[in-house]
Amino acid sequence: MLIGCIADDFTGATDLANMLVKGGMRTVQMIDVPTAKLDADVDAVVVALKTRTIAPADAVTQSLAALAWLQANGAQQIYFKYCSTFDSTPEGNIGPVMDALMQKLGTDFTIACPAFPENGRTIFRGYLYVGDVLLSESGMKDHPLTPMTDANLVRVLQPQTAHKVGLVKVDVVARGPAAVRERFAALKAEGIGAAVVDAVSDADLQSIGSACADMPLVTAGSGVGLGIALHHRDAGHLGHAATAAQLPRIAGRSAVVSGSCSVATNAQVKHWIDAGKAAIRVDTLKLASDAGEVARIVDAALSAVAQGPVLVYATAAPDEVKRVQAALGVERAGQITEAALAAVARALVETGGVTKLVAAGGETSGAVVQALKVSALRIGPQIDPGVPWTLSTGAKPIALALKSGNFGTTDFFSKALQQIDQP
Ligand code: ADP
Repeated sequence: MLIGCIADDFTGATDLANMLVKGGMRTVQMIDVPTAKLDADVDAVVVALKTRTIAPADAVTQSLAALAWLQANGAQQIYFKYCSTFDSTPEGNIGPVMDALMQKLGTDFTIACPAFPENGRTIFRGYLYVGDVLLSESGMKDHPLTPMTDANLVRVLQPQTAHKVGLVKVDVVARGPAAVRERFAALKAEGIGAAVVDAVSDADLQSIGSACADMPLVTAGSGVGLGIALHHRDAGHLGHAATAAQLPRIAGRSAVVSGSCSVATNAQVKHWIDAGKAAIRVDTLKLASDAGEVARIVDAALSAVAQGPVLVYATAAPDEVKRVQAALGVERAGQITEAALAAVARALVETGGVTKLVAAGGETSGAVVQALKVSALRIGPQIDPGVPWTLSTGAKPIALALKSGNFGTTDFFSKALQQIDQP
């Protein structure tokens, strides 16, 4: 395992895994800290935690547990992955987790680089841009949990860490890995423990990836992951780079479950229905008032899937969602819908012969993965940016595409199923 990664949320973990695969690394994503030994021949492992907004002490404990497992399974380098908008508060959790990992790894220097130029996240002289505006002028300034009101990452990180924070400017990064390494050494000599690193292009990420090759710990968004993977590929460390994204062909039936109510998912559901494909609607109010409703939906889904791919959806327009939430409460509406979709997914897989499943919605995907008792995913080819096909590990592998709310083109569902059938 060339690199062992600790991600602070689930879709962020998939995003990083997708980047590592793009760079030629065979990658597995673990859902939570595993208990068993790693049972796969891979270059990279990403442990998906949910620590972005929990209490700093809990985030540290969970991250150290992930570190212990990664080290026990031979990780040569550790990568702490956070959001490309550096989501955090003066209390954390980026700084506290970084400090704890540094201490455990016995290192006194690391980088902090959330840049993801392909997605418009660039860092220039320490200032993070989202598209053409500063982070502090982007939608992130109003985030309910981690409002980002300062775009200067040196200033944002400093109160979160016991280490002195410094900066490697883009002028240096543009001169290549040797110049970056030289600057790291100079900063270290000045007593700096964490260097924010500018990056405005994929070429910058590659320079950073090479310059960080020997660092015990890297902290970054998903972008630097691509740089590190490309460094290993170019150095000839990746024997399977050409086939890293390949998943074995998988026989069986296909289905989609959708619990996301985002604009993109509403359009994707409409596209599927307009094409005349089989679709079963889940009515959340009926679920709440009639205990037999889930069984009826399951039966309908099982007979439909015997004829061809079926979509089971709770996806609804905002006014409908508001009406349901007003009647049941936001939390209860979400929970019973997630539970029903998870039960449908389990029935489709366990008795309906489904081996290829698309799940739409972050929370919905989490419920589905839990119901299917999936603990690890081998990352395959990308369907749309940020959403790869994956294959669950274990005796009966299932192909899963887990799409968070606003991702994917309008024809995402049929495109995904077509891609897995004709790789
Ligand atoms: P996204 O990734 O778009 O945020 P999630 O699955 O994370 O999607 O969240 C959507 C939430 O809305 C889930 O808790 C889901 O169960 C709930 N939900 C889905 N359909 C409905 C509906 N018709 N009425 C109320 N809540 C719904």
